Amino acid sequence: MSEYKILVVEDEEDVQELIRYNLENNGYRVESALDGKTALSKANSTKPDLVLLDLMLPKIDGLQVCRSLKENALTSAIPVVMLTAKGTERDIVAGLEMGADDYITKPFSPRVLLARLKAVLRRRSQPPATEKSVIRVHDLEIDPKRHRVFVDGKEAELTTTEFKLLQFLAARPGWVFTRYQIVDAVHGADYPVTDRSVDVQVVGLRKKLGRAGEYIETVRGVGYRFREDE
Ligand code: CA
Repeated sequence: MSEYKILVVEDEEDVQELIRYNLENNGYRVESALDGKTALSKANSTKPDLVLLDLMLPKIDGLQVCRSLKENALTSAIPVVMLTAKGTERDIVAGLEMGADDYITKPFSPRVLLARLKAVLRRRSQPPATEKSVIRVHDLEIDPKRHRVFVDGKEAELTTTEFKLLQFLAARPGWVFTRYQIVDAVHGADYPVTDRSVDVQVVGLRKKLGRAGEYIETVRGVGYRFREDE
């Protein structure tokens, strides 16, 4: 049984109850907040392991709460999973760029909710691969020192940018990244940022990786994610 404490921020009481029921049945401890202001004070006082944050909240909205959590040194390391309605990709992108870890679209099944929370908590407890370490995921092997990529033992010839892009995504399977975050990580802040440049790189990269290209998943309206191990 996990001993993780989850702060659930949701103003709709029936949804709040449903989430609490499912989390408690799976061994989580649950703190709850019905508005953004309470969420911020409870995040400070109860030190949750994760905040599940509805974006549509009265008084202080969810994005504002996310920003405040990430700006406060006491709470900035707590992972945030956003709860969003369909069609709010702009809010999702804003939240991810503010440092949220993932999002779940309403309506969601309890199974999906539990799987996502588990994945985020697991990722948080693993140190990220360092810049120079060899990444082995699925049937890919990415060797940053030698700048080479092998798919099922066969080498793929990538450009420097394609290589950096693949290395960035594959080092963090399961994480969703916005195009801006990708450009920022791959080129540094001084590179002209366009959505299209990332999309073009991804198309080229997928082609060169062949079958393994499908590990780079498009998250519609949001960005890209490298498929997580089952
Ligand atoms: Ca709401």
